[in-house]
Amino acid sequence: MHKFAVFGNPIHHSLSPDIQNQFAKQTGFEISYDKILTPVDEFVSSVKAFINQGANGFNITVPFKLDAFKFANELTLNAKIAGSVNTIKIEANKIIGENSDGIGLIKDLTHNIGIKLKSKVILILGAGGATQGILFPILKQNPNQVIISNRTHSKAIRLAKNFSKFGNTCSISLNKIKHESIDIIINATSASLDGRMPNIAFNVANNTVCYDLMYGYQTPFMSWAKTNRAKMISDGLGMLVEQAAIAFEFWTGAKPDTKKVLSNLRR
Ligand code: NDP
Repeated sequence: MHKFAVFGNPIHHSLSPDIQNQFAKQTGFEISYDKILTPVDEFVSSVKAFINQGANGFNITVPFKLDAFKFANELTLNAKIAGSVNTIKIEANKIIGENSDGIGLIKDLTHNIGIKLKSKVILILGAGGATQGILFPILKQNPNQVIISNRTHSKAIRLAKNFSKFGNTCSISLNKIKHESIDIIINATSASLDGRMPNIAFNVANNTVCYDLMYGYQTPFMSWAKTNRAKMISDGLGMLVEQAAIAFEFWTGAKPDTKKVLSNLRR
């Protein structure tokens, strides 16, 4: 029996146990996968207790991805560049941190939805752990420009600067965004978790793709995109399934079929 879990706060909305159990069934692994609601100042003590119970690995969600980055004692290249960890594998004394968010998003956008990022202008709302995880994989697709905009502007400036060695990045204040030249808007804020909308004051053009990392309901961002007649609107369910598959493979070596699981969840 392989022992896994996801740590977060809030965690009630997480579909990770369902997804990982479907992967395990497909590939013939016996697993247990728990949702662990973790008090905001108890990440380290909670994951240490889980490791002591014989855990093989775990996922990390809002707001602990930066804590997980510090907690790992070895990092994959993705995690190192992201400065943020969403998956940990335990191997003897090694606590190996990986970040599967970005590759999960790229797989969803390019394979499931059929959007190419090459030469596109991409606006990312938010500058938290998720944005750190998706920036490098997005820049590897050779977009024309990636614009980062965040409620706390200084964080957007820092990320744009740190990632500029991988591609054309810049930052802009939320209230100064102009829609005309944006091909893809990715809502990577956690505003949707509270049923809120980032405080933006522009309308999308009708050739814009709007993608919310949140899943499970039509978020205010998705409703805003719909009202503005965006060309395509997606939630982050496909990303969730794809990043979970990368985590499952990282732990077990087995590659699950994501299409089946995604269509089960959509149903
Ligand atoms: P963090 O807590 O690290 O960062 C949150 C970000 O959202 C910050 O930039 C914060 O701005 C911004 N923010 C929060 N509330 C508001 C608001 N009301 N208006 C504007 N901006 C706001 O979270 P993560 O980056 O880890 O996660 C972000 C979202 O992405 C979550 O909803 C999460 O569920 C989702 N996600 C989905 C995944 C998937 O697989 N589909 C994978 C990873 C994440 P500030 O800096 O000013 O505080």
